[in-house]
Amino acid sequence: MSLSAGITGIRAVTDLAVEGKRVFVRVDHNVPLAKADGGGAHRKVADDARIRATLPTLRHLIERGARIVLGSHLGRPDGQTKPEYSLEPVAQRLAELLELDVALADEPVGDGARKVVSDLRDGQIAMLENLRFHPGEEANDEQFARTLASYCDVYVNDAFGTAHRAHASTTGMVKHVAEKGAGFVMAREIDFLSRLLGDVDRPYVAVLGGAKVSDKIEVLDALLERVNAIVIGGAMANTFLEAQGKSLGKSKVERDKLPIARNFLRKAAEKRIAVHLPTDVVVASGLDADAATPVAVDAIPADAMALDIGPSTIEAYRRTLGAARTVFWNGPMGVFEKPRFAAGTVAVARALADNKLALTVVGGGDSAAAIAQAGLADKVSHVSTGGGASLEFVQGLELPGIAALKP
Ligand code: ADP
Ligand code: MG
Repeated sequence: MSLSAGITGIRAVTDLAVEGKRVFVRVDHNVPLAKADGGGAHRKVADDARIRATLPTLRHLIERGARIVLGSHLGRPDGQTKPEYSLEPVAQRLAELLELDVALADEPVGDGARKVVSDLRDGQIAMLENLRFHPGEEANDEQFARTLASYCDVYVNDAFGTAHRAHASTTGMVKHVAEKGAGFVMAREIDFLSRLLGDVDRPYVAVLGGAKVSDKIEVLDALLERVNAIVIGGAMANTFLEAQGKSLGKSKVERDKLPIARNFLRKAAEKRIAVHLPTDVVVASGLDADAATPVAVDAIPADAMALDIGPSTIEAYRRTLGAARTVFWNGPMGVFEKPRFAAGTVAVARALADNKLALTVVGGGDSAAAIAQAGLADKVSHVSTGGGASLEFVQGLELPGIAALKP
């Protein structure tokens, strides 16, 4: 695998000599868990997609006789050992998928961890316990980082989802390891997301939605410098519509963000970047209401909530997206978790899937879930595995975990 132009210098896992070497692989095995039979602290993996995503990197290393030391976080144990966040169910699932034993150290660092690592033979794999059981991980503590580095000869980062965090396992330890590179997950993310920062085919259209303007105003501002048009939906659109003087009834609106929204619309107008807002929305009396009605944005009843974009808006957005040659999408167009309010989100997913001429990239946890739910994830160019990380990347920010991989 080779990485695209802008980030040359970062080596891919395929470029590293790994035979007989101890290779630390930072993975994002932060998977959802469910209570297992038997109760207590025992858990099982509810969705193994993040584990499966790392199999190509792990198989590559196993086939080449590396001694693999896996590091991941799981949940937010806040620097303490909490059995419910043990990686035990993850190690078990990984062992099933690889059809290999996966030794699990009962701590991230310490005598036990060192022993598990030093017992590794070529082609074997061991996992350290949840890195966030130690406060040094999130604090990027130098001593903790050095200890992790002492467990390996080569460092591979395949955890794009945490690349925007400067933690011991994503940055601190890396400077103490001689050889470093990106795994397949990381390389693919860098490859596709960096295309959005380069010389893109135009028009470049960004679709932004989701819950809050406040989460994404930096992204909106940064996109103004790069795109030809911005399409807005979701609760975020409510705030923009209210900023334009519409009455949104009981809809979710960030009243304290109206000045930011107005300011954004003014800047976009000055730059002649088209900002598309809904002309109609689907309203209901609440999330569990039986009746959902499309209304024009000028006619939202005082007791109603806007929970999806309406049919005219869907039509207009489909046209804009059909004409695009580059699309970045983050944030659902409505409360897609409820089928009654999922039409706008599904229509955007389909518009991306149908546009075979465009580079289509989806980022964001809920957006990725929505396109998977629509069965269209494999019909777009790339669905990012990182929520916050993908948003920082498309803003053109340098992610610490990626910067650390540069020679
Ligand atoms: P992502 O994870 O893709 O970045 P966000 O987390 O920003 O997306 O937003 C997703 C959430 O926004 C979903 O839970 C969805 O229900 C909610 N949402 C979208 N539109 C609306 C709306 N009109 N009213 C209330 N919530 C909404
Ligand atoms: Mg989200």
